[in-house]
Amino acid sequence: MNEAEKVVCVTGASGYIASWLVKLLLQRGYTVRATVRDPNDPKKTQHLLSLDGAKERLLLFKAELLDEGCFESIVDGCQGVFHTASPVLFSASDPQAEIIDPAIKGTLNVLKSCAKVPSIKRVVMTASISSVLYNGKPLTPDVVVDETWFSDSRFCQENKACPSFCLLLMMCFANEVRYLSWPYALSKCAETEEAAWRFAKDNRINLVVLNPGYVIGPLLQSALNTTSELVLSLTRGENTLPTSTFRFVDVRDVAYAHILAFEVPLAAGRYCLVDRNVQIPEVLKTVKELYPTPGLQEKCKNLDKPVEPVFQISNEKAQGLGVSFIAWNVSMRETIESLKEKGFLSF
Ligand code: NAP
Repeated sequence: MNEAEKVVCVTGASGYIASWLVKLLLQRGYTVRATVRDPNDPKKTQHLLSLDGAKERLLLFKAELLDEGCFESIVDGCQGVFHTASPVLFSASDPQAEIIDPAIKGTLNVLKSCAKVPSIKRVVMTASISSVLYNGKPLTPDVVVDETWFSDSRFCQENKACPSFCLLLMMCFANEVRYLSWPYALSKCAETEEAAWRFAKDNRINLVVLNPGYVIGPLLQSALNTTSELVLSLTRGENTLPTSTFRFVDVRDVAYAHILAFEVPLAAGRYCLVDRNVQIPEVLKTVKELYPTPGLQEKCKNLDKPVEPVFQISNEKAQGLGVSFIAWNVSMRETIESLKEKGFLSF
């Protein structure tokens, strides 16, 4: 790819994952057209503008997912589009307006613009492992989930009792019940990915989808994103914890996987991005070793019980693409270090 061909767009560029993606793209010599909701908000843009190469090759554009057609002029002339923008919220007073519409209609809005631009060789979209796992098949320890699995949005909505659905729901600020219906949120993930594949097929867009698990690792941005906020409250011992699992992956691996998904000619389909499926007692044990939270031990009664095996998620396809996963406990340590450096943890 010559220099003139190295122009790409990143939607939702100020986000946790996207900020790392922009950093890596700039390091690799790309010109990045970065969309943000408010280019004048330094909390959302300062960390991007201070990246190496930003002065020369980073351009910020204002874009809102539900603003029909607003991505058209931004993606025009790009060779690649990384669509990461989506609301990541565990609570909403109006989930349809705040989460579902921006995710599904917003994705189609971006893809419609991409379909009009012949220079775009590939669109890489950030989906979620939530659009892989939930379809009614048992998730027992002998199971290895892979990219052939698709969540069934109807199943997600109908099976509110499924314990793994309830993990985040139960963890979300248990003192202050302000979460949304988690099955609803999972169905949003599945529906968004389904809609993207349908549109891409009908409009001959070369789409590659990434399905990360729970993303941890150092933050580039100054404000907490939703999932880092949850790690912070876990570290502070502020959550009541269910016995369940976290499917961890490092933010730097997720960002690099986006680049490989764009650059590797044979990249295709979907890629599960999970280092390991870790049970809560093991997570707490590790966090406790890294950060001496008073009372953390008492929060989880199962800490000393042996950890039972859980289902696995294959990362073979992602490794074939070139991703080598950072071990989740290393990522956890670096997340906590980063939260300390940014002043969110005091010692
Ligand atoms: P994040 O830090 O909250 O970033 C989300 C980005 O989307 C933000 O830049 C946000 O803009 C933008 N956005 C939200 N609503 C928008 C709207 N209506 N119009 C335009 N932009 C909008 O979240 P993240 O963790 O990096 O997540 C990025 C992507 O990865 C999302 O698609 C998410 O579903 C997916 N994902 C994340 C995880 C995880 O554990 N973090 C796991 C699996 C998948 P503002 O900065 O203006 O708010």
